[in-house]
Amino acid sequence: MTIHAVGTPAADQPLGPMQITRRDTGPHDVRIEIAFCGICHSDLHQARSEWAGTLYPCVPGHEIVGRVTAVGAHVTSHKPGDLVGVGCIVDSCQHCADCEDGLENYCDGMIGTYNGPTEDTPGHTLGGYSQAIVVHERYVLKITHPEDQLAAVAPLLCAGITTYSPLRHWGAGPGKKVGVVGIGGLGHMGVKLAHAMGAHVVAFTTSPDKREAAKALGADEVVISKDADEMWAHAQSFDFILNTVAAPHDLDAFLALLKRDGTMALVGAPATPHPSPNVFNFIMRRRSLAGSMIGGIPETQEMLDFCARHGITADIEMIRADQIEEAYERMLGGDVKYRFVMDIATMA
Ligand code: NAP
Ligand code: ZN
Repeated sequence: MTIHAVGTPAADQPLGPMQITRRDTGPHDVRIEIAFCGICHSDLHQARSEWAGTLYPCVPGHEIVGRVTAVGAHVTSHKPGDLVGVGCIVDSCQHCADCEDGLENYCDGMIGTYNGPTEDTPGHTLGGYSQAIVVHERYVLKITHPEDQLAAVAPLLCAGITTYSPLRHWGAGPGKKVGVVGIGGLGHMGVKLAHAMGAHVVAFTTSPDKREAAKALGADEVVISKDADEMWAHAQSFDFILNTVAAPHDLDAFLALLKRDGTMALVGAPATPHPSPNVFNFIMRRRSLAGSMIGGIPETQEMLDFCARHGITADIEMIRADQIEEAYERMLGGDVKYRFVMDIATMA
C-alpha cells in the first residue's frame, strides 16, 4: 500500500514529500495509522548523513504514536483501535542474551525504525514521518495516557526512554544528586524524570534564557555551564551526570563535578568526537565515564507507565509536515522548548 511520507533522497537535499510503501500486515504484525511523530536530533544527524552510513531515500522518525488499524492472526498484545507507540526499534534477533534480558537495544541484530536492513522496499527501514507503519507486535508499546495528550507522549518513545534508562541504571532517586547536561529534547525529559524519581536535580545549560524554564521542568538548581564560577560551586558533588549534548565539548568540566565513584553517562551522539578527557579526572576520585543507548522494550513500557502515573509528557511545539526543514534549523540553533512534534494529518 502506498502512503505519504516526508523524507530526503540525498544528504544535501532538503526533506520533502515522497510516496513510500508498507508491507502487508503479517501474522505477528501490527499496522498503525500514525497520528504524531516527534523530531529527534538523531533524525537530523541521520538525514544529513552526519553519522556514517545513511541509506537513501531516508525517512526519519522514531517517536511514533497512533492507532492500531489491523493486526495479524497471531497477534495477542494489541487490537484495532488501541493507542500505541513505536520507538527506535522495530526488530531484533529475539534469541540472544540481550533480547532475552529485554535489552533489544543492545542486540547485534537490532533493526532501527529507520535506516535498518529489511526485506521490505526499498531494502532499509523507513521511519515515522509517514502516515502508517507495520511493526512486529513485540516492538509496539501500549499508551495509557489520556488521548488528548497523545502528541506530547510521542517524544517519550525516544527522548523519554533514552533518559529514563540511564537514570534508572545509575540509581537516580532520593538522596542522590543528579545533573542533566543540555536542556533540549532529551535533557528536558531527563530533568522531569529525575525529579519524578526523587533525585536532587541540577540542570546544566548553555542558554541563560532557559534558567527559569528549567526550574519549571523540575530542576532544583540551574547552572549556566559557560560560567566557571557557577560550575565550580558544584565541584565533587554529583552522584550521576546525564550528558545529552549533541555537539563536541569539554567533558572535563563536568567530570570534575562528580563525587568519588560518580559516573557521567553520555547519551548525546555528536558527529565528531569530544576532546579527550584528562586521565586525572578519573584516577583521582575513581570516577567513570559511560554511555547508554535508548532502552529495551520492557523498560520502554515501564517508562510509559511511569510517565502516565506521574502525569509526565514532553513539552512540545507542533509543526506541519512542510515545516520540517525550518524545525531542523531551529533545533540546531537551540530554539525549541523542548521538542517539535509533526502532526501527520498535515501530510498531503
Ligand atoms: P536537542 O534537542 O538539539 O538538544 C541538545 C541540547 O544540547 C541543546 O538544546 C543544547 O542545550 C545543548 N547543546 C547543543 N549544542 C551545544 C554545544 N555546542 N555545547 C553545549 N551544549 C550544546 O537534541 P536531542 O534530540 O535532545 O538529542 C541530543 C543528542 O542525543 C543528539 O546527539 C542525539 O543524536 C542523541 N541521541 C542519543 C540517543 C541514545 O540512545 N544515546 C537517543 C536519542 C538521541 P542548552 O541550550 O541547554 O545548552
Ligand atoms: Zn531519537
